[in-house]
Amino acid sequence: MSVLIFLDQSEGHIKKNSFEAASYGAKVAEILNTDAEGIVLGNVEDDLAALGVYGLKKIHSFKNEELNTLDAQVFAIVIAEAVERIGANVIIFSNNISGKAIAPRLSAKLKAGLVSGAVALPNTENGFVVKKSVFSGKAFANVQIKSERKIISINPNSYKIIKVEGTAEVIEPNITVPGSKIKVTAVNKIAGEVPLSEAELVISGGRGLKGGENWHLVTDLAKALGAATACSRAVADAHWRPHHEHVGQTGLAIAPNLYFAVGISGAIQHLAGVNRSKTIVVINKDPEAPFFKAANYGIVGDAFEIMPKITEAVKKLKGG
Ligand SMILES: Cc1cc2nc3c(=O)[nH]c(=O)nc-3n(C[C@H](O)[C@H](O)[C@H](O)COP(=O)(O)OP(=O)(O)OC[C@H]3O[C@@H](n4cnc5c(N)ncnc54)[C@H](O)[C@@H]3O)c2cc1C
Repeated sequence: MSVLIFLDQSEGHIKKNSFEAASYGAKVAEILNTDAEGIVLGNVEDDLAALGVYGLKKIHSFKNEELNTLDAQVFAIVIAEAVERIGANVIIFSNNISGKAIAPRLSAKLKAGLVSGAVALPNTENGFVVKKSVFSGKAFANVQIKSERKIISINPNSYKIIKVEGTAEVIEPNITVPGSKIKVTAVNKIAGEVPLSEAELVISGGRGLKGGENWHLVTDLAKALGAATACSRAVADAHWRPHHEHVGQTGLAIAPNLYFAVGISGAIQHLAGVNRSKTIVVINKDPEAPFFKAANYGIVGDAFEIMPKITEAVKKLKGG
C-alpha cells in the first residue's frame, strides 16, 4: 500500500505545486513506512525520472493526448482505476484548480475520506488526523479520516519543497480513456503574461488607483519584476481590469511568494484569496486600512507617488 501523488501538468510540463505535493506525499509515505509514487495524466515532455528528487520511487505515466487537458470526470475515473491497480491507500493532490475539481470526485468514487486544504502533515499518533484551514484561513480544523483509503489536498505554499537524491522508475501503463461527457469548443489563452494562478510574484491594484487609465502603475512594476497582475473585485466590477485578474473569495485564490497590494483596503473577502501568500506588501494612504494587519511590510502613502519610485528602483537594481 503506497502513497500516490497526483502530478498536475500543463502543456506538457509538471506544475510547481506538484513538487510541493510530491515532497509532502514523500513525507507521508515515510511516516506510514511505505513508498511515494506519482501519477501523471497526459503527454508530458519533462524528464519524469528526475522527479525522484522529490522522494518519488515510481511514476505512473498515463500517456494519452485525450488526457492533456483537465476533464475532472475523466481524470477521476482514470485515477480511481490506477489507485485500485497500484493499491494506493493515501492519495495526495495540490489544492489547486485541478485538485479541487478531481479530489472530491475521486473521494466519492473510492468512498475515501477527503481533507481538502490541508496545511500540515497528518498526525498518526491516534488515528489519521489532518490539520486544514477553514473559514478562508481564519481558523484551523483537525479532521480525522476514518476510511481505509484517504485523500488529502494540500494548500499551495503550506509545505516546503524538499529535494533528495534519486531517480524515479517510470512506468507507462496501458489505458483506455473513458468517453468524456463534455466537449471543449474553444480555449482562450492569455498570451504573453505570467499566469496568475502559477505566479510567484503578483502586483495587485485596487480602487485606490482611481481608474483603469492609471494601471501602468501596476503593470510597470509587474514588468520590471516579471510578476503577474491582479486586482480587487471592485476594480473588475468597474471594468478597469478583466475578471480573470480578480482575486478573493469570489475570484481566484492565490498563494504567491510575494503579493504586492496597491490601493486595496483589505476587505475580508479580498484577504480570503491572498492570505496564504508568503510575503504581503501593502501600499495604502490610510494608516487604518485593514490590509496592514495582514501585511508583512506596509507603506503608508500615496500610490501615485510611491509606485513610480519603486519601479525605478527595481529597474535600476536589475540594471535596466
Ligand atoms: C459576497 C462578497 C464577495 C466578495 N468577493 C470579493 C473578492 O473575491 N475579491 C475582492 O477583492 N472583493 C470582494 N468583495 C468586495 C469587498 O468586500 C470589497 O468591497 C473590495 O475588495 C474593495 O475593493 P478595494 O479594496 O479595491 O476598494 P476600496 O474598498 O474602495 O479601497 C480602496 C483603498 O485604496 C486606498 N487608497 C485610495 N487612494 C489611494 C492612493 N492614492 N494611494 C494609496 N491608497 C489609496 C483607500 O485608503 C482604500 O483603502 C466581495 C464582497 C462580497 C459582499
